[in-house]
Amino acid sequence: MTISGKARLAGVMGWPVAHSLSPRLHNFWIEQHGIDGAYVPLPVRPEHFDDAVRALATLGFAGVNVTVPHKQAALAVADRVEPLAARIGAANTLIFDAGGAIEARNTDAFGFAENLRASEGPDVLRRGPAVLVGAGGSARAVVAALVDAGAPEIRIVNRTRAKAEAIANSLGTPCAVVDWDRRGEALEGAMLLVNATTQGMQGQPPLDLALDRLPREAVVTDLIYVPLETPLLAAARARGNRTVDGLGMLLYQALAGFTAWFGVAPKVDEALRRFVLAGLAGG
Ligand code: NAP
Repeated sequence: MTISGKARLAGVMGWPVAHSLSPRLHNFWIEQHGIDGAYVPLPVRPEHFDDAVRALATLGFAGVNVTVPHKQAALAVADRVEPLAARIGAANTLIFDAGGAIEARNTDAFGFAENLRASEGPDVLRRGPAVLVGAGGSARAVVAALVDAGAPEIRIVNRTRAKAEAIANSLGTPCAVVDWDRRGEALEGAMLLVNATTQGMQGQPPLDLALDRLPREAVVTDLIYVPLETPLLAAARARGNRTVDGLGMLLYQALAGFTAWFGVAPKVDEALRRFVLAGLAGG
């Protein structure tokens, strides 16, 4: 690693942030491209978020990724907000210009879409009805990606129905809300199933969803990547559905920020995936 007086600096701001794989991921690319720079973890309490972002812009950082719980605050602190981030209502990438002005972008929607396209082909988001389980922060990016890709129908199922309705109302016409109690029926005729809840994460119970009505041709994906194969993905694979894990979304969402901060367009490939996975395993 080279750090000269002209080094470019970026990082990830979260609270907590120690679990984040973003430093490992970005520093892999920094090393691979022989870049004079570094990407560092930035643990910042919510009450200090605005001051911390402005300070980094003043200090000459090129920008930061923003993770839980700061993704909404990242919109408010920005001088410019990209239209997609405004629609989603959250930003995960901040880019500082030479004058210190802050631009907010959301690259989670791209990360979600590109991960699926890379594995299942360019039409995977628009082959037929999509069922989204969950209506939290990341679900908004998933719906934006599906709408923009031309999904003909998006069925949103969430334990708290009002949150699914809020997403459907703000993000577009192909959305329909289905009651939590009817989530099994919602799978009828679906071509894509997305889990955007926290159910199935390490330490959490599996997502409570019977797959019997899901067509075998449907692709099943989970945003969770710890574990890499969630109980939902294991059950889907066992009955013959194709599955896509959530790690690729993390890798693809990182591309745009890295390119803007370090001036090099990196690649998501098997070597990167293996390196980041080794970090998950504590390597
Ligand atoms: P969030 O805003 O906290 O939303 C959590 C969602 O899970 C809500 O829809 C919530 O339903 C649902 N939920 C929680 N407990 C539940 C239960 N017992 N039964 C049914 N539903 C339950 O979380 P988020 O930020 O959207 O993240 C969701 C997941 O995506 C997390 O596992 C996160 O790690 C993952 N993620 C991955 C990536 C990636 O790059 N791969 C990016 C972002 C997020 P209610 O509304 O009813 O509470």
